[in-house]
Amino acid sequence: MLIDTGAGNLGASAPKVFPNVDHSTTVTGDLRRNLEAAGVEASEVDTVIITHAHPDHVGVTLDDEGELVFANARYVIGREEWESWTSGTAAKHAPPIMVDIAQRNLEAIGDRLTFVDNGDEILPGIRVVTTPGHTPGHVALEISSVGEILLHISDVVIYPLHLEHPDWTPVFDMLPEAAEMSKRRTFDRAAEQGALVFGHHFPPFPNLGHVRKPGSGWQWQPIEQGTT
Ligand SMILES: [Zn+2]
Repeated sequence: MLIDTGAGNLGASAPKVFPNVDHSTTVTGDLRRNLEAAGVEASEVDTVIITHAHPDHVGVTLDDEGELVFANARYVIGREEWESWTSGTAAKHAPPIMVDIAQRNLEAIGDRLTFVDNGDEILPGIRVVTTPGHTPGHVALEISSVGEILLHISDVVIYPLHLEHPDWTPVFDMLPEAAEMSKRRTFDRAAEQGALVFGHHFPPFPNLGHVRKPGSGWQWQPIEQGTT
């Protein structure tokens, strides 16, 4: 099972997609090589969960020849996410190049979809937490095992600073009001559960930590390297 397919070749076109950003350290396109290094062939992946259809999360759905990279997988996505991109309503809140990338990748998996909603269990121990705002149908994932919880928040929040300022809107949050609500709910959930949290874009690798709620706000506490 794979959560999101990464940015693929986005690194090469990143300056076009995200102008006015320093791309000198951008590295993308390593997912397949890293999977192989971990002993996993793309053909062995039977479930791909898509948290949302931004280019850095669906970029390796197709290879350079336009073929499915994970050819034997079913694809799991929130219905709202699918419909907003494929119907074009997302285009009101996203630049054309993002809509193009989303549509190209989503159309390719149209015949192998499973739609999910809040609380659905995708695989044993992996539940959907709907978190709209960053995109219309964004989902986080609660992964539990033997009393422990890992909360994969994907892009509910894209930088730790926003734990202290959930009302500050990153330009990539398509629906800012919903995004702020989702941030607050997710931080509360993580703090109450004492969950280990994976923030997709949080530095430094491996992007793991805990959410603390010392008073009225929240704080990010990254794990110490080599521990969980
Ligand atoms: Zn992202």
